[in-house]
Amino acid sequence: MTYKEIEINQDIVLRPRLLTGDRPTGKLHLGHYVGSLLNRVALQKIYDTYIIIADVQALTDHFDHPLHIVANVIEVAKDYLSVGIDPHFSTIFIQSQIPEIHELATYYLNLVSLARLERNPTLKAEIQDKGYDRSLPMGFLCYPIHQAADITIFQASCVPVGEDQIPMIEQANEIVRRFNRTYNTQCLKICQAHLSSTSRLVGIDGVAKASKSLGNAIFLSDTPDIIKEKVFQMYTDPLHVRVTDPGRVEGNVVFSYLDAFCQDSQKEELEAWKAHYRKGGLGDTFLKTALNDILQERFAPIREKRNALRDGEVWEIIKEGTKRARHVAQCTMEEVRKAMGLRYF
Ligand code: ATP
Ligand code: MG
Repeated sequence: MTYKEIEINQDIVLRPRLLTGDRPTGKLHLGHYVGSLLNRVALQKIYDTYIIIADVQALTDHFDHPLHIVANVIEVAKDYLSVGIDPHFSTIFIQSQIPEIHELATYYLNLVSLARLERNPTLKAEIQDKGYDRSLPMGFLCYPIHQAADITIFQASCVPVGEDQIPMIEQANEIVRRFNRTYNTQCLKICQAHLSSTSRLVGIDGVAKASKSLGNAIFLSDTPDIIKEKVFQMYTDPLHVRVTDPGRVEGNVVFSYLDAFCQDSQKEELEAWKAHYRKGGLGDTFLKTALNDILQERFAPIREKRNALRDGEVWEIIKEGTKRARHVAQCTMEEVRKAMGLRYF
């Protein structure tokens, strides 16, 4: 019997809850892997884990091509299963299929001011990158509020995320405090971000974080040839022209990836490469070849596992997870409505 079955059968919560997730805007990449997937795999046996595939949030900036979002739901779920997220321990579900989340988000909208949203640094940067100005869709502006509903409706205490999500956790906790104070209740819980040691993996361009939308990421499902091509495109040090030139390690994408993906047993050798590179005499081709070997070895079994998954079995896992998640969300909403006095019949 799994922990989940024990919980369902006895209707008791044995473990604290964890909520995390991704937007189905594309397949998952190595930033997700080191930034949060590895953490989730480790934490799923400690926490009662809920993983949201946030299609509604994805629509806030992709509303004009919903089928792209819909098509990526199963791709993201396959990425989860291929890295070791285990449906016996983790509940994988689709955000749009839990109407209670959207009800809760509507109540939260009243608790946050425009000025507060505009102070959110991640949101601010995203609005700027997308060039929205006055055409900013309200759905996009308000996605941190929606995200607060995602987290709190599951009473999650732990939220494993990348660094860009810290302001969202702060926003969620502000809403929890305000809601509990306003309605004189304790029904919502404060949560904590859980950061990994690589909470921001840079893109192969060296400019921004690796991101599905920016075309600068290596995907978990990339073929060996594509991985190699992307490694050899990586931005290094533009002043390191000849092998003998001294080179910069900081801001050098190849070293960022070596730091993130070298095994502990390779760390000493990596430090020696850094020293050699700084001094001069170590070529980019040598380092890129080493990184390519490391990535090929690490991701071949994940890709194979992914390719072996059948769509039917993956949909069954998502369907079952969504049913479970909805039950939890309904229980929280009972409490929320009670606290707000919204009981009529
Ligand atoms: P999009 O470009 O559509 O915003 P994304 O690549 O930023 O996609 P999200 O679905 O927005 O991915 O992020 C899901 C989770 O993965 C978040 O917790 C985020 O912090 C984390 N994450 C995303 N990119 C990285 C990265 N490059 N390094 C570390 N963590 C990341
Ligand atoms: Mg993102």
